[in-house]
Amino acid sequence: MALKGTELKDKLPEGGKKNCRECGLPTCFAFAMKVAKGDADIDLCPHLLPEIKAEVREALEPPMAMVVLGTDDQALEIGQEEVMYRHEKSFFREPAIAILVSDKDSDAEIETKIQQVQGAVYERAQVILKPNLWALRFDSGDRDRFAKVVQKVHDSSPLSAVIISEDLQALFMARDIYGDRCPLLYPITAENLDAALPRIRECPTSVGVRAEGPENLIPLTEKLKGQGINQIILDPSSKSFLQAMQDQTIIRRCALTKGMRSLGFPTLALPYKYTKDRFEEILYAGAFVAKYAGVVVISSAAKDLLYPLLIERMDIYSDPRKLRRVEAKLYEFNEPGDDAPVLVTSNFALTYFSVSNEAQASHVPSYLAVLDTAGFGVEPAMACGKFDGQAIAQFFEKAGLNQKIRTKRLILPWIAHRIKHELADDLPDWEVIIGPKLINQLATFLVESASEWGLKVNG
Ligand code: SF4
Repeated sequence: MALKGTELKDKLPEGGKKNCRECGLPTCFAFAMKVAKGDADIDLCPHLLPEIKAEVREALEPPMAMVVLGTDDQALEIGQEEVMYRHEKSFFREPAIAILVSDKDSDAEIETKIQQVQGAVYERAQVILKPNLWALRFDSGDRDRFAKVVQKVHDSSPLSAVIISEDLQALFMARDIYGDRCPLLYPITAENLDAALPRIRECPTSVGVRAEGPENLIPLTEKLKGQGINQIILDPSSKSFLQAMQDQTIIRRCALTKGMRSLGFPTLALPYKYTKDRFEEILYAGAFVAKYAGVVVISSAAKDLLYPLLIERMDIYSDPRKLRRVEAKLYEFNEPGDDAPVLVTSNFALTYFSVSNEAQASHVPSYLAVLDTAGFGVEPAMACGKFDGQAIAQFFEKAGLNQKIRTKRLILPWIAHRIKHELADDLPDWEVIIGPKLINQLATFLVESASEWGLKVNG
């Protein structure tokens, strides 16, 4: 729980009534409010004892720590979330998706996964979606085999890894291979903590602690923090999916609303533990993305499973206070020439994504004029004057479409049919065509229209 300005004032000299102005502010209360908001440093008050300053500093720390996995351009920050529910503010740091590889998998299976992950880079609404980590699990009992698998994955992919091994020797051997990429070591437990600590300290990295139930994680995190190790991820070792949902919620609630710093860390989720069905596993993984995992390990990198999960993550971790938008500009599909029609739409990302998918899939050469509607869809943009005849005419003028296009066919979204008459005034040389009522009819509409216009379809 972050320290409030009113609580901080009570800790200031004379209970916040000294008001000597030496900090540059007119009152202790004004100073307290600024410090609580992070706009002033507590050191500016010269009258505070060092132990009070340290106490204030700790109280001002975010309730949940941030953990960094990976390095350089593969570095991923997780944790430091601020709210229980996305609608209260936003979820800020999306969970890492890790792809599981067991050293019991055959070489061919491992090679397939490496290739799937290498190809798993998708773009949606101008956002790049991809998995973030490997999860390399020691199952074979053969350390040489595990070393070979870890080295192979390390050398084939720039991603960092969650190293999963109950055998400490195998765990730290793999850590040494991934030492340059800040991996996550898992599991650190009450049973192996003392033996693991010297090895952890020799090359500090993130550690995943495991204990049965959130309450049993507390002594482990306290001990690690006491050793100066703060890059911690929690696994409450839940016995069932339902229990896992409860434990994830308890940990988040304890950290954010009860101020329990011992549980103020991101969590690990292993949905494959709860089912053998690959579709059910992805549904569970999706639930963990929403509530409240920092790392989600899944057993498959197949596109039909991974892609929906990545999209869900993108949506959950988008800021609900900001409309998702794309760049307002002229887009081209299927090598359009001067006889191609011009579709017009808003820069609301989902509208753009739907229209561009249909335009691309039709194989009909076309332009797409995406107006700057501040992220609003077409209908609200019309209501606030951002999508009307004048705005479209200005866009066409700026993009040089009046000169570029010979046939001058403009396709207006069906929902905007009532501004057709405005375009007769603002773009008198253009034939204004109303598009289909449903977006999923657009590709067919374009193909049929192209045939009518004698326009060559590419592909
Ligand atoms: Fe209060 Fe300290 Fe500022 Fe003086 S310097 S007004 S005591 S906060």
